[in-house]
Amino acid sequence: MFHSVEQSPGDPILSLVEDFKRDKRAEKVNLSIGLYYDEAGQVPQLACIRKAYERLANTWDKPELYLPMEGLASYRQAVQHMLFGEESEAVKAGRIATVQTLGGSGALKIGADFLHRYFPQADLWVSRPTWENHIAIFAGAGFTTHEYPYFDPKTGGVDFEAMCACIRQIPAGDVVLLHPCCHNPTGADLSEAQWDVLIPLLKERRLVPFLDLAYQGLGSTLEADVYAARAMVKAGMAFLLSNSFSKVFSLYGDRIGALSVVCQDEETAERLLSQLKVTVRRNYSSPPVRGAQLVNIVLNDKELARLWREEVAAMGARIRAMRQSLHTQLSTRLPGQDFQYLLAQRGMFSMMKLTPAQADRLREEYGVYILRSGRVCMAGLNEQNLPPVVNALAAVFS
Ligand code: PMP
Repeated sequence: MFHSVEQSPGDPILSLVEDFKRDKRAEKVNLSIGLYYDEAGQVPQLACIRKAYERLANTWDKPELYLPMEGLASYRQAVQHMLFGEESEAVKAGRIATVQTLGGSGALKIGADFLHRYFPQADLWVSRPTWENHIAIFAGAGFTTHEYPYFDPKTGGVDFEAMCACIRQIPAGDVVLLHPCCHNPTGADLSEAQWDVLIPLLKERRLVPFLDLAYQGLGSTLEADVYAARAMVKAGMAFLLSNSFSKVFSLYGDRIGALSVVCQDEETAERLLSQLKVTVRRNYSSPPVRGAQLVNIVLNDKELARLWREEVAAMGARIRAMRQSLHTQLSTRLPGQDFQYLLAQRGMFSMMKLTPAQADRLREEYGVYILRSGRVCMAGLNEQNLPPVVNALAAVFS
């Protein structure tokens, strides 16, 4: 019956990870996958999460019932506070519909299904390049997808003029997917001044912004990293915001995130929520319990929330320190070359100016694994693996 089913080519990132595991070299370094590693090269368990687990410890012998389709109520409320601010007029007015989701991917899927059902004519626009699963999830939900110009390989930054020129041409009603911070895969972010130009343009063109926030707090502060969303609220816009707690709580396998839809008024938000619930129902009925409980405990406890803020800030600071060290060491080894873009880019990733052939050489000759696109996971660097990585990069760049 299944004779005609073809083998999928597989995910290029996950197959690199498999190759890495098989690699027997002692000095191998994996900078391909999007995981945050600490200075010791471990994916950390956050102290705030350990404490949240302690509080859950006396509940292990009771069964977990289904959560409601929209997820845990106090979690959803805490997420709104974190994203938009406790004092946000939109939060107080009850005009944001938030559902708990299976990570950021689940939020994208629920958002995509909902939008396609109500706006079947709308196409999706993503940055060139973007996280590949953006295209896969939206195409899977029935969207036709297009790219707007974004990354400028010459500068390692954003080609903002080309981006705006394209956005001016997008038909009203289309969905524009944007990264509020720590752009994946390039690390090239818009400045606040650029958001201030882009937001009125999106509004004037009557486009539907979909912000995808997977790294809040790893680029700058928690508040600064969500500048775009708060500015859109101030501009009185309706938009969608998916957020993931995979990286910033180091809760990858718990599959915890949220989708928020900012509406014009409370009554619309209620109708929206009812439709998001239907969308969840059609996909997987209701979300898992544990991740929401853990994040809920942390965000709703003053002490634990403070501890979490410190831990996220420390993760962001460690990544920035690694960027700085990589920049200094490469600039010393290759004085004629400009690596300034490493300092300007933000978050877990940088798009290094490397050809696929150079990426292959890094892997084959030096055991340094990065994506063939040139994407490097800065959060995989530490004081110990930096010297072999710098050696390998200096060799392929010279
Ligand atoms: N959006 C972006 C931009 C991401 O980089 C990721 C994670 N790689 C996600 C969404 C998905 O997050 P999650 O792992 O929580 O599904």
